[in-house]
Amino acid sequence: MVTTKKYDFLIVGAGLYGAVFAHEAKKRGKTCLVVDKREHIGGNTYCKKIEKINVHAYGAHIFHTNDKKIWDYVNDLVPFNRFTNSPIANYKGDLYNLPFNMHTFYQLWGVKTPAEAKTIIEEQSKKYKNKQPQNLEEQALSLVGEDIYLKLIKGYTEKQWGRKATELPSFIIKRLPLRFTFDNNYFNDNYQGIPIGGYNELTGGLLEGIDVQLGVNYFKDKVALDSMAENTVFTGKIDEYYNYEFGKLEYRGLRFDHEILDMNNYQGNAVVNYTETEVPYTRILEHKHFEFGQQKKTVITKEYPLEASSKQEPYYPINDTQNNNLYLQYKNRASKDLVIFGGRLAEYKYYDMHQVIGAALAKTKKLFDN
Ligand code: FAD
Repeated sequence: MVTTKKYDFLIVGAGLYGAVFAHEAKKRGKTCLVVDKREHIGGNTYCKKIEKINVHAYGAHIFHTNDKKIWDYVNDLVPFNRFTNSPIANYKGDLYNLPFNMHTFYQLWGVKTPAEAKTIIEEQSKKYKNKQPQNLEEQALSLVGEDIYLKLIKGYTEKQWGRKATELPSFIIKRLPLRFTFDNNYFNDNYQGIPIGGYNELTGGLLEGIDVQLGVNYFKDKVALDSMAENTVFTGKIDEYYNYEFGKLEYRGLRFDHEILDMNNYQGNAVVNYTETEVPYTRILEHKHFEFGQQKKTVITKEYPLEASSKQEPYYPINDTQNNNLYLQYKNRASKDLVIFGGRLAEYKYYDMHQVIGAALAKTKKLFDN
């Protein structure tokens, strides 16, 4: 007896990878069911509306790309605003512009010309240049010298990684861009912004007309869910998919503490990094500034880095040799299955949003158009 399944694709995960995949499949006349264990779509891009402000529930998300096709693709779904990421660093109460540029050098040393700034940086870094750096600290000192390293890099990096900079490998910092212009625009990309109305407008647009079930953990009902579709696209953790048979892949965690404040403007900028070790969080976000909000109140979020643990939400893959080798075992295992694995958790890879969209577009193009 031939049975036809209800859907062409079951897509596990309503983040950007799953949503773009579903959108592209639907365009080609395929039917999809998207499930997510969270109670909302959008994965880590999800925005929660609090006090009429789109709060980036899983940390600041700023869209940037050099790829005009990707920029046009997202803007066809929702117009983007012209937000420019220009974070501020707070070190022991003093404020500095990021990325490191002429404003920063003026704030650090009072210098007004690129030549003066270069002289100081060369002076401070030259004694570290003659030897092969043994750790992140030595690497950073040889690139930017003492003041920038001690005030703006050391504490932030140690909090992020939960380890002393002298215990971190030098390859984490390959280069530290120094800009000898008065330019606070963090990204070098041609296009950047925030979807007007928040990221749910983008993922909602992608998933329009597609069946979505929320609060559904695939592993709790795998057999029944698989039986509903001809094919499965999986965007969750690849090690979990294989029941951790080779071991667990590690991730750095994060905790987000959101606060509503009874004032209209707390810090005057969307992102302020706290670069000293003594302050336990790495940054404070003030969400209304992503969309130039004029609401009466404001919502801020403190981001606390956490040690990797299997109980926490996985945020940043720890792509060291051990984890990468482990991932290769899973990847090899997955190549023998028909399931499509995609996205940051299934590929154990840090993806920016434009990159994950690009990856899902490439996958669907290969699958449907060849
Ligand atoms: P996700 O968004 O994680 O989606 C995967 C979905 O799968 C999740 O919703 C999850 O609930 C679901 N899922 C997992 N397992 C199951 C299961 N068993 N059953 C059902 N559902 C399941 N990118 C930028 O371009 N700019 C930024 O400024 C930026 N900032 C970031 C800040 C932080 C703190 C983090 C962590 C990431 C940031 N990113 C940023 C990256 C961005 O979040 C990712 O590119 C994007 O979310 C990846 O999409 P995805 O679909 O692969 O994963």
